[in-house]
This record gives sequence, structure tokens and C-alpha cells, in this order.
Amino acid sequence: MTFAELGLHAAVLKALADAGYNEPTPVQAQAIPAALAGRDLMVSSQTGSGKTAAFLLPALHRFASQAPTAGAAPSTPNFGRHAPRGRSDRQRFSPAQPKMLVLAPTRELALQVTAAADKYGATLRHVRAVAILGGMPYPKQMQLLAQNPAILVATPGRLIDHMESGKIDFSCLETLVLDEADRMLDMGFIDDIERIVAATPATRQTMLFSATLDGVVGDMARRITRDAQLVQA
Ligand code: AMP
Repeated sequence: MTFAELGLHAAVLKALADAGYNEPTPVQAQAIPAALAGRDLMVSSQTGSGKTAAFLLPALHRFASQAPTAGAAPSTPNFGRHAPRGRSDRQRFSPAQPKMLVLAPTRELALQVTAAADKYGATLRHVRAVAILGGMPYPKQMQLLAQNPAILVATPGRLIDHMESGKIDFSCLETLVLDEADRMLDMGFIDDIERIVAATPATRQTMLFSATLDGVVGDMARRITRDAQLVQA
């Protein structure tokens, strides 16, 4: 099995070759074709299985297949410089409209996912990934959001802050990923996750990754996905 046989776009295949990946891992081989076909996914997988590429590659494939302007960073940031004078920051700021949102339990995991998106998306110049994390200064995050990134990777609490202050608009969201969903629930993020999910379009593709799909996490997985393909790798 090769990545080309999975049907990925040439630009993504080039980034994978540059990264030195020769063949998909089992979770990638099962998840990628279903995700490319538009299916929701419930995936039981461990760290180290290659799960990050399993959810990033199908989205990057879609971005590569869309017009080059899709998800593009604006040539001028949409915050600040060109705004009319005398308005408040809130009025001047056009909200970010990400196409993909990845929720992760910790800063470390969110940063790893962002780095992976940069690596796998290296051949797609118009696709930018940004991490929105607790503990990061707000002005810095406002600057990152002003770049209107196609991919947002976030810890749930900080994302809620930005959502509620009107900095993010999910009406263009195509893909929602919950990475290490069981850990997010263990950390008490269930209410935040429910609020974030409720703010996304019902038409989204949802992919949930978790070490286990038993109990509460399984219940949530079934609630937020539709006709999901089950992958156990
Ligand atoms: P993950 O489970 O997503 O954290 O990935 C674990 C490690 O495997 C990361 O260092 C990835 O860069 C690497 N990796 C993911 N997919 C592949 C692949 N198909 N071939 C080789 N390495 C991979």
C-alpha cells in the first residue's frame, strides 16, 4: 500500500516524500480513504500510530484540490492597519474563518499537531496552521487569528474565550477533529467541547480519535458524528 494508492493529491504526496514517509501506517491506511470519501470517523488509536497524519492528510488533500485562494491568508492582515479610525477593536476585527479545527487536550499535543500540519502542508503555500493555546498572550493570538488560517489547532478553554469575543466564525468550517478525546474528557473539557461543537455547522465532517471508545467518550463520539466509520488500529 502506498500513499498514492490512497488517492492523495500530488502536492501532499510530495510533502510526504520530503518527510521520508514511504507507506501509510495501519490507522492511516484505514482512515484516509474513508475521510477522503467524506465519512465521519471514530478512531481508536494510540499516540505513535500515525493518527495525526490520518486526520491532517485528507484535509490537506481537499485544500490542495480547492482554488489557491481558498483558506488563503489575506495579502493584508484583516486586523488593524487598514481599518477606519475611531472604531473599537471588536468592530475592526474580521473574525477568522477556519476550514479545519483540531481540538487537543494539551499545549504540547496542540503544538505537535500544528508542526505536523506545517510539515505535511509544506507544499501548500496558501494553507496556514495556527495554535490557539491557554497561557499564550492574547495580543499574539489576535495577530495569528488575523492571518485567517485555514487550520486552527486549539485547547478547548482558550478557544471558547476567542469564540465568545467574536474572534472566530465557524460558518466556513468543513472539518472538526477531536484528538485524544478521552484525555479531553478526563481533563473536564466536556462542557467546552459541547459548546464548541454546537457552534460548528451541522454539515461538517467530524473525526474523533481516542485511545478508547468505551463509556462516556463513546457516547460523545456517537452523538457528534454521523454514520461514522469505525477504525481500530
Ligand atoms: P503520531 O501518532 O501522529 O503522533 O505519529 C507518530 C510519529 O510517526 C510521528 O513522529 C510521525 O512523524 C511519524 N509518522 C507518521 N506517519 C508516518 C508514516 N506513514 N511513515 C513514517 N513515519 C510516520
